[in-house]
Amino acid sequence: EVALDVRGLTKIYPDGTLAVDDIDFSINDGDFCVLIGPSGCGKSTTLHSLVGKIPVTEGEIRLGGEEITDAPTYERDIGLVFQDFQLFPHLTVGENIEYGLQRLQFDADEQEKRVTDIVEMMRLEPLIDRQPEELSAGQKQRVALARSMVLEPKLLLLDEPLGDMDYKLQKHMERELLRLHRELDTTFVYVTHDQTQAMRLADQIVVMNDGKVEQSDSVERVYNEP
Ligand code: ADP
Ligand code: ADP
Repeated sequence: EVALDVRGLTKIYPDGTLAVDDIDFSINDGDFCVLIGPSGCGKSTTLHSLVGKIPVTEGEIRLGGEEITDAPTYERDIGLVFQDFQLFPHLTVGENIEYGLQRLQFDADEQEKRVTDIVEMMRLEPLIDRQPEELSAGQKQRVALARSMVLEPKLLLLDEPLGDMDYKLQKHMERELLRLHRELDTTFVYVTHDQTQAMRLADQIVVMNDGKVEQSDSVERVYNEP
């Protein structure tokens, strides 16, 4: 039932900065978890440790019961979506979505089925031959989500994916994300410093402050103190 389990995670950067200080938290299978806290509290460091972009100093990360603390990024089965999308600028929307499947050498039928399904789910058919530079911010983020989700990761990490958008588009994309989460039945970890967004999106909230986890509980219990 537990999807992600983090025990004693500590990250000290080479310059001596203690960015994450012995944190524990776990996330249930299929939950929409929001990791929240002020700028500099260690959210990005935590995400980058989960995905394997930086080595951890100490601690243990388990995904689906399997220890992945020192596994290479491509073996982790974790997707990552960035605030600034990071689409491949020279590839079309369709090619961006296919890219990971090709790299991982899925057979042609499986590639086609997965791409067709995710394109339909994200309503990207009309954009399939466009270049990223021709898209709106909302459209780019939908392509970025599709590109990650087509690999069917066990866990999807979203690093302030709606951070640069205006309020109206944010609200629209929040609804898209909730729908996607429902339809895919994947575990999400969504990073933000925006409490109102957390309350709209989260099943579970992990509150970080100054390198520590202060609270980890359901949205009701974190925001409605008895
Ligand atoms: P957040 O994502 O919550 O803003 P970060 O994880 O980016 O927090 O940063 C946590 C702390 O680690 C901050 O004090 C930040 O300055 C520091 N930090 C982040 N990256 C590095 C790095 N590469 N080297 C040294 N210190 C870093
Ligand atoms: P689609 O309508 O195909 O889902 P988008 O996700 O780009 O395409 O936009 C969906 C809706 O989000 C639009 O109908 C509009 O209401 C709103 N929207 C899109 N782009 C912006 C923007 N840059 N600023 C504000 N709202 C936007």
